[in-house]
Amino acid sequence: MQTVVRGLASVYDIEHLVRLFYPGAEIRPRRTRGQDAVIAHLGRRRMLAGLCCAGQCSWEYAPLPGPDDNQTPEYALAALVYRLLCRRTGKRPPWGMLTGVRPVRIIHDSRAKGMSESEIRRLFCHKYDVTDEKFELALDIANRQSPWMQADERDYSLYIGIPFCPSRCSYCSFVSRTIEKEKKLVQPYVDLLCRELEDIRSLADHNRLHLKTIYIGGGTPTSLSADQLRQLMGTVRRLYDLGDIQEYTVEAGRPDCTDLEKLEVLKEYGATRISINPQTLSDEVLARIGRRHTAEDVIRCFEQARSVGHTNINMDLIAGLPGDTPDGFSATLDGVLTLSPENITVHTLTLKRASNLVIEQRQEEYGDVAQMISRCNVLGKAGYAPYYLYRQKGTLQNLENTGWCKPGYEGLYNIYIMEEVHTILSAGAGGSTKLRQQKGNLIKRVFNYKYPLDYINGFDAVLQRKEGVNDFYARYVDSQTSG
Ligand code: SF4
Repeated sequence: MQTVVRGLASVYDIEHLVRLFYPGAEIRPRRTRGQDAVIAHLGRRRMLAGLCCAGQCSWEYAPLPGPDDNQTPEYALAALVYRLLCRRTGKRPPWGMLTGVRPVRIIHDSRAKGMSESEIRRLFCHKYDVTDEKFELALDIANRQSPWMQADERDYSLYIGIPFCPSRCSYCSFVSRTIEKEKKLVQPYVDLLCRELEDIRSLADHNRLHLKTIYIGGGTPTSLSADQLRQLMGTVRRLYDLGDIQEYTVEAGRPDCTDLEKLEVLKEYGATRISINPQTLSDEVLARIGRRHTAEDVIRCFEQARSVGHTNINMDLIAGLPGDTPDGFSATLDGVLTLSPENITVHTLTLKRASNLVIEQRQEEYGDVAQMISRCNVLGKAGYAPYYLYRQKGTLQNLENTGWCKPGYEGLYNIYIMEEVHTILSAGAGGSTKLRQQKGNLIKRVFNYKYPLDYINGFDAVLQRKEGVNDFYARYVDSQTSG
């Protein structure tokens, strides 16, 4: 399927809207003769949406929105395309026209503008055609998040990235490197990462910032050796008073590289929350996605974590993995509930071009993902509540990722980063520092190199780019508060 957009400066919204219906659709400047295509055209007097499929074309026309319609031409044309595609395909995406990653944020922002709940409901369910069920989910989460939505201008969280894994999962689109192949890079990487953390601490002091949460993620942080974990977490403990912060998460990720000694290191060096991620408890599915561990290994790792005193554990699951079925997914949910972790995060499989699974295969190959996601009701019945939600481009059936927790175990870093509550300072390859100014709702980013080798070779440039943190606070925060 091709997408052809004429008359708009930005094709982004319509490109992603069309992919809700045709995931592999490519944007083209003009239609190739004989190819299936969605056409969106903004003319001088009217708009046109067209779908040409299997030799048949159908069209919808509408006048341009007037000043009383309270709509931009971009939105009006996207809505025309959406209506045509719903009518012609018979599909209604559960999140309607919303293609963005943060639906809950729309609720927070609408409230900040003074909109009532019924106005927000109309916005979601009428304007964007979101189903009642998804709106209720987003509203429930927004309500649960509200105690953490007010941040001080100088609050921040620290993200530390470990871009190594024991093996590459077939669906992975992350920059992570296989630890065996990149063994030589690991120690220099950890050494420089510790230097970057020192630099971040100086930047934070210079700008009078207060640390709220720490998150060591990846990749798989426990693919480091126990000594490298001691070096990294020892640096963190030396630089920060851990008694002062709200949460310290480390992704223990995969049981094929997480042993009792490493779990003890995480506990000893101050982690208050860890993540052990089975993704599925089906051994067949685990083998199919390239994980070199079994469900039994996950359970053993979980029990070891409990035995060394980890009292706040998250488990990540993925709905829609190749070879999985709704019943298989239910069995995974039941298995994880038996372990009774404090958090369960349910992702919907997302396929990006960098992954080893091919986007076009997915329609036939993957089970009924919507049915799997609906089986998560069992989590509610077991006493868990949804507390954060986000979406990604390329997610199967345009569904969401939802974090569930037992009461009082909300993962605060997840809320802070997803709802863009405060600044995130990131260390390591693939890290993106996100600077937040509360007053003007302004966000600026500073990117680190993506790959570990570039990070090591370009480390001086990494530190130089971080000077952007000082510029940001001087220009957008200090200047606002000094007068
Ligand atoms: S564990 Fe995560 S980051 Fe590592 S290869 Fe698998 S999906 Fe990618």
